[in-house]
Amino acid sequence: MSSGPHIEQVRKLLTQIPGPKSQELIERRAEAVSASLGMAIPVVVQKAGGGVIVDVDGNSIIDMGAGIAVVNVGNSADRVVKNVQEQVEAFTHTCFMIAPYMGYIQVCEALNRLTPGSHKKKSVLFNSGAEAVENAVKISRKFTKRQAVVVFEHGYHGRTNLTMAMTAKNMPYKDGFGPFAPEVYRMPMSYPYRCDSCSGPCQESVLDTVLHKIEKEIGAGNVACIVIEPILGESGFIVPCKGFLPGLAKFCKENGILFVADEVQTGFARTGAMFACEDEGVVPDLITTAKGIAGGLPLAGVTGRADVMDSIHASGLGGTFGGSPIACAAALGAIATIEEDSLVERARVLGLIMRQSLEAMKKKYPIIGDVRGRGSMQALELVIPGSKEPNPAALSSVITYCQQNGVLILSAGTYGNVIRLLPPLVMPEHLLKEALEILEQGLAQA
Ligand SMILES: *Cc1c(COP(=O)(O)O)cnc(C)c1O
Repeated sequence: MSSGPHIEQVRKLLTQIPGPKSQELIERRAEAVSASLGMAIPVVVQKAGGGVIVDVDGNSIIDMGAGIAVVNVGNSADRVVKNVQEQVEAFTHTCFMIAPYMGYIQVCEALNRLTPGSHKKKSVLFNSGAEAVENAVKISRKFTKRQAVVVFEHGYHGRTNLTMAMTAKNMPYKDGFGPFAPEVYRMPMSYPYRCDSCSGPCQESVLDTVLHKIEKEIGAGNVACIVIEPILGESGFIVPCKGFLPGLAKFCKENGILFVADEVQTGFARTGAMFACEDEGVVPDLITTAKGIAGGLPLAGVTGRADVMDSIHASGLGGTFGGSPIACAAALGAIATIEEDSLVERARVLGLIMRQSLEAMKKKYPIIGDVRGRGSMQALELVIPGSKEPNPAALSSVITYCQQNGVLILSAGTYGNVIRLLPPLVMPEHLLKEALEILEQGLAQA
């Protein structure tokens, strides 16, 4: 299994976190870099591979974030490095709209083959997840000749103007950045842990409410597309009730609406399937991909029904760098790694280890309100014991404890109270178990 640059797969602390070299560089960062950017862990990276990140002070930190579900194949995975090196030496850019190249075509062929559904599909490539989502909306509007876009509470779709409008959470994504794009309508989301009707048949009541609101408040005939993450990422791995996604997809089909699955975070083996939609056999009309597609290089795609994708006028879509030959070469290396090293299966195995351990922790620590996720996308929602009240203070205490002990863990959640685990799928099991032990210690002291 490729684990990138041959970095010893251990957790090892030589200094405090951050060490002196990191500290110095972080002071320079503060001088040179806009204060607008967040920082999950105050260390400066020297190299990374497999399940670890090594910082400039020589500390080796277990990586439970994979750069936000990006390096599913690990950092600098062998096939990614080899393909990128060969591509950089051959040529770096022609612009696919000026003079095409093979890598772009091959990535589209791979996306058409790997995404759900056996119908004829076509793809187009971009640079980022937000750009892919924007283009999925452009395509949907042009194809349907309708304008309304339906999104969901807690949803996250990016930070450009249109995708900010589609994203639910104000802080930090939207505050003061308006005005936002019109014709975006937000619907209630199936959130089993926090849904009052969830003691009963949740999927029916929430789904009914959504469909009723669409009919009465927008008019189904005005809706171009429904855009949803099959498992919500940034809001803390909310898995909708069974039946919710298929119900939406069915409504779309009956009403000439395009069902768009935003699989930017859930895609490429993360959930123990190549794409999360497969779990309930949902076949989206369009699917957006990015994050895990290219082993760390910036690339994104929209893949979908050939008739929809071909309904756009010539030169209607594109962009200077979209589908860069270097990013495409990396994607082909990443996809080969996922398929040849059976990372879909690995995501399930690692997911099971995490799930069992998290369920056991939930029995011991009343600050854990909910354990959820699928495959190697697992989360803990932290609450005030005895209630469902969000507990962001416990979250920051756990995350700080983990960092100081050499484990990088990411936060998430509309209420800032969710621990999300997204290890690279090449993480050795001993490291994963060690990270879970540290996490448990963090929970115990919180
Ligand atoms: C990260 C993310 C995006 C935005 O992708 P960028 O590459 O950051 O623009 C869109 N949708 C989902 C579900 C995401 O997780």
